[in-house]
Amino acid sequence: MRTGIVYHPKYLEHEQSPTHPERRERLAYTLDQLMEEGIFDLENIVLLEPFEAEIQDVLEVHTREYVDFLIKTSETGGFIDLDTNVPVGLVDVALLAAGGAIRAAQAVIESEVDNAFAMIRPPGHHAKPHTGAGFCYLNNMAIMVRWIQKKGFRKVAIIDWDAHHGDGTQEIFYDDDSVLFISTHQMPLYPGTGYPYETGKGRGEGYTINVPLPPGTSDEGYFYVFEKVIEPVIQEFEPDFIAVSAGQDNHFTDPITGLALTAKGYAEIMKRAVNLASELCEGRIVTVLEGGYSVEHALPYTNLGIIAAMAGMDISNIREPENYLSELRWRKKYYATDRVVENVEEVRRIHSKYWECFGDD
Ligand SMILES: [Zn+2]
Repeated sequence: MRTGIVYHPKYLEHEQSPTHPERRERLAYTLDQLMEEGIFDLENIVLLEPFEAEIQDVLEVHTREYVDFLIKTSETGGFIDLDTNVPVGLVDVALLAAGGAIRAAQAVIESEVDNAFAMIRPPGHHAKPHTGAGFCYLNNMAIMVRWIQKKGFRKVAIIDWDAHHGDGTQEIFYDDDSVLFISTHQMPLYPGTGYPYETGKGRGEGYTINVPLPPGTSDEGYFYVFEKVIEPVIQEFEPDFIAVSAGQDNHFTDPITGLALTAKGYAEIMKRAVNLASELCEGRIVTVLEGGYSVEHALPYTNLGIIAAMAGMDISNIREPENYLSELRWRKKYYATDRVVENVEEVRRIHSKYWECFGDD
């Protein structure tokens, strides 16, 4: 399998402050690790250069007023919320991030590669039509999905497994039946939305699926959600394209969340998503980096796991940050899996009126 990786050194330029969780080292350490592992020397790995998204493509998702605000505020610096300030020059990096996601999709559609990973920042899934939020400015995922649809791939399934609810992406597609949005996220946690009863509205009713997870949820919990919710519903939806909002803040070393997924667990769920794409849409899948704040102890490992899974490499030897395995022991809660099972049952019950696959319990 040929896998594209979108990356640009400019992604390291964006910084809200040196101590902000969403800082440049998130990608710098990953790059070091990928170099060390010789990933870019492999002939089935293709480095893809991003371009800036066209304003026209951004306006498919965001309001003119908000885009003008970003452009103007990027000249002087400013604020969106307490977690999200606008450093000088922000809009150029934000457009390159959104364009990076489009570049990944373009490479797949034009058969340059089989699938692609947009290793971009700043992240996007909290950004709403009229505002940024939670470290996000432009909703890279949504801008890419609208671009994909314009290329003739109407039905897109989004899997958002970031530890935080993808509230921005949900809002953008809430009344849309052409985009199936599935989010797994820790609850309670920022931004406080993402309950199972948030199912979409109008034509989009049933096309938003939220699976909240308790703190301590481990690999087993995630595999269970894939088996009972994500896989069957995507099979029934029959997408033309699959897109993954791959936040990596569910890793057991992440400092701002409480989940307990391992790097190997990431590789496994990525592999499952890749398998769904092979089965349903000729392998068309793009992964877009969202959050992930364990800069040294998770991101280099989880990003590698994702790339290995996308490229069809052996994922059995994906390593964990060994010095931190003790953290996994206290973070992982065995009773969490029981709560996951309960939540999954609730999601299936609520959605059984929309999806046949949930009706046979
Ligand atoms: Zn997150």
